[in-house]
Formats: sequence, structure tokens, C-alpha cells
Amino acid sequence: MLTNSFGLQANAKNYISINSLDDLSKIENLYDKKLLILGSGTNVILDNYFDGTVIKVQLTDIENHKDYISVGGGVDWAQLIEYCLVNGLYGIENLTHIPGSVGAAPVQNIGAYGVEISSFIKNIECFNLKTKKLETLNNDQCKFGYRNSIFKSKDLVILKVNFVFEKSFQPNLSYPSLSQFLKDKSIDTSSLTPRMLSELIKQFRNSKLPDPEIEPNVGSIFKNPIVSVKDFDKDFLVGHKWDQGDGYTKLSSARLIELIESDLIIPDTLRFYENHSLVLINNGGASFNEVIYLLNQIKSRILKEFNIKLEIEPEIISV
Ligand SMILES: Cc1cc2nc3c(=O)[nH]c(=O)nc-3n(C[C@H](O)[C@H](O)[C@H](O)COP(=O)(O)OP(=O)(O)OC[C@H]3O[C@@H](n4cnc5c(N)ncnc54)[C@H](O)[C@@H]3O)c2cc1C
Repeated sequence: MLTNSFGLQANAKNYISINSLDDLSKIENLYDKKLLILGSGTNVILDNYFDGTVIKVQLTDIENHKDYISVGGGVDWAQLIEYCLVNGLYGIENLTHIPGSVGAAPVQNIGAYGVEISSFIKNIECFNLKTKKLETLNNDQCKFGYRNSIFKSKDLVILKVNFVFEKSFQPNLSYPSLSQFLKDKSIDTSSLTPRMLSELIKQFRNSKLPDPEIEPNVGSIFKNPIVSVKDFDKDFLVGHKWDQGDGYTKLSSARLIELIESDLIIPDTLRFYENHSLVLINNGGASFNEVIYLLNQIKSRILKEFNIKLEIEPEIISV
């Protein structure tokens, strides 16, 4: 049974765990076979049977070098956040409480509240399934973008991520709803510590996002589309968009879904989270087909209504 935070029933034909570099010999001849690299399963929508081999990186060391830290792909993201807080390494407080593994974090360049992990990545050690060689890609070679990177190509198994964090604490409070949350809580931002910020981010997230352990979900179900300002009326989605500069703006997919939600046929097994319409919840017993049917309905309604192409954020893994 494959673990996934959406609570979908899924199995695979084969399963290979990478606990040390010696285990790479088990995957070196699999390039042209059906493969799935799986972390903690918090950003995938799995069909009920994967007719191939699942690869799971279980390297769990954290090594502190003078100028950088080297972190195994199997380390839990929460463990890395805690390690940074304890060791005086700053910058990723805003990424507290994002579920998943370190090895998956660069794949979609995880981000939250104005911070993206790519800003702290020195390089990434991976195994190239195509060339059967170990490779170290520097930050540029990773081709990071908004929820994107070269690792979406699937040829590269991330083994270790080498990070450079800040040595002094400069909180990033640029995200409007985060700074409003701190204001509402009467937090004196001049006396914020990294630990306090991390705890506040956790509270902020808990106030908006459901705990996947209780309400199975995969976080945001769609990416927020980035569109050209000139193609949309200036008042379109006012208060639900973020200027990107250069004539582009990022629109809230949550708001777009709210605008068409009454037209959707939603099965009893699924619902949108009451506090955040970008989060789809499995009420229990949802099937892969039900999820895909609903996501396709949303995409086509939004395309028809607003001429906007939504992109599904988690990876769809079908047979
Ligand atoms: C409640 C909730 C909130 C979330 N909030 C955010 C958020 O704020 N910001 C955000 O960016 N994301 C968010 N996510 C998405 C998710 O947490 C991240 O994408 C996370 O990095 C996924 O980690 P994982 O180990 O579960 O990856 P998985 O879901 O197992 O895999 C995700 C992708 O990474 C690939 N992959 C996994 N491990 C490796 C590896 N070692 N080498 C190469 N490829 C690999 C997989 O093939 C797959 O394509 C949220 C998810 C949930 C459930």
C-alpha cells in the first residue's frame, strides 16, 4: 500500500528503497521501465495500482559543513526546519509546516508566504537514471521556477540537497495576509525570534489549511495562474491577485473556483475545505476517477468562463 496524504487506496507492483548509495545498483537498469519516485506522498494523486516500480529515497543524514548543510532526501521537512532553528540557520521559517520530504522539496520548488526553497539551494546530488551516473546540479542547472524545476523531468532521483542558509535572522513578512495575521495578533515584529516566527507560521497555516491526518488532502489542488495584465479587466479579481511585475499578475485559483463552484457536480466523497477553496478533501472512500473527473470539470468551466487555463499542482500518477 502506498502512503499518500489524500487517503487514496494505491498499490504498486515493485518497491525499492534507497537506504545507501550502494542501493543505487538496484535502480541503474530501470530507465526505460515504468517508475515512480515517491517521497511522503503529500503532492501526488495516485491511481489504485501502479504497474511499475516505486523508488523511495530513505537517506536520512544531516551533515553540517562550514558553509553549507547537506541533507538526505529522506529527511522529513519538519525535521529540517527544527534542525535550522536549533543550529542558528535562518531564512526558511516561512516554509514551516509544509508536509513532505527534503528530496521532494526542490521538485516543485516549494514555497509559501513569499519564500521559495530555491533561494537556499547550493546544489543537489542526484542519480541520473538515463546516464546511470551520480550528478551534482548547481542552482542554475536545477532550472527553478514557480512550482517547477528540472526534476519534473523524472530522470533524476534526488539523493541529497545542499543548502546555504542565512547566518543572521531577517524575517520575511512581505506577504500581505501573513503581516495582517501578525497585526491581528498584536505581535511586535521588531522582537520576533526565528522560533516565534516559525510557531506563528504554524498557527497561521493551521487556521487556513486542514491537517491531512484528519482531513486527507494534498494542499493546493491547482497552481495560481500567472496571466498578462493586459488580457484582463483591471478590476478582475481585485483583492485576489498578486502583481508579478513586467505586466503579469498571479490570480487566486481559490477565488476562481469559488466563482464557478455552484456549477460543479461534486460527489459525496469529496468537498472543498470550508476555510480554503483550493484544498480538496477526501471525505472518505474517494476514488482516483472521481477526483480526476472533478478536476477536469473545474478546468473546463474556468477555461470557458474566464479563458484561463488552470494547471493541477500535485502530480497525477495513473497506471
Ligand atoms: C496540507 C498540505 C499543505 C501543503 N502546503 C504547501 C505549500 O505551502 N507550498 C508548497 O509548495 N507545497 C505545499 N504542499 C505540497 C507538498 O507538501 C510539497 O510538494 C512536498 O514537497 C511534497 O513532498 P513529498 O515528500 O510528500 O513528495 P511526494 O508527494 O511523494 O512527491 C512529489 C513529487 O516529487 C517527486 N519526488 C519525491 N521525492 C523525490 C526524490 N527524492 N527525487 C526526485 N523526485 C522526487 C515525486 O515523483 C513527485 O513528482 C502541501 C501539501 C499538503 C498536503
